[in-house]
Amino acid sequence: MSQNNLTLSELKQQYSNCNLCQELCDNRIQVVFGSGKENSTVIFIGEASGASEDKQGIPFCGASGKVLQDLLATIGLTRGDVFITNTVICRPPNNRNPKKEEIENCRDRLDKTIQIIQPKVIVTVGNFATQRITGKIGITKLRGNILEVTFNSQIYKVVPVVHPASLLYNGRNSVIFDQMKKDFQTIKKVIEESII
Ligand code: SF4
Repeated sequence: MSQNNLTLSELKQQYSNCNLCQELCDNRIQVVFGSGKENSTVIFIGEASGASEDKQGIPFCGASGKVLQDLLATIGLTRGDVFITNTVICRPPNNRNPKKEEIENCRDRLDKTIQIIQPKVIVTVGNFATQRITGKIGITKLRGNILEVTFNSQIYKVVPVVHPASLLYNGRNSVIFDQMKKDFQTIKKVIEESII
């Protein structure tokens, strides 16, 4: 529960017609707030909604989502066990990268989502989410590390991972997939340590 006692469904309602990013509002079908377990130990934060997400209203529901599901399965989790959202929750036209001002516009929404869920572990998926949450750049070096961030005087563990889309761009290269599985083992370890 956040300081102002906002619930996740109230926050979702607040952003259901958000119009802070004009270009995104003009092109989106819907705001894709997030999905999964509301009091989860783990929150996954991706980049931005894509075409499938915009159509279905669920984050990571396309090909990248299938990879994420496979990776979750390697540590005994399903997407129903975690909460999944994005750095920017409206689809950028033609799947372009989110702009700085869009990330800033969506900052308060993401901060409040984290404050309400109070996860033990934040998994940042790809460069944009990693930079947004940790302020650090370079997913290739940061992936699989265990970092810490402080929001509202509370410390959260953060594990950056490579975006599943990069596995797809690289023809499902097995070396990359093995690295990703290794990073998910780190997530598992942090979860286990956090609930001891
Ligand atoms: S991306 Fe976030 S801030 Fe921008 S319009 Fe959508 S909900 Fe609002």
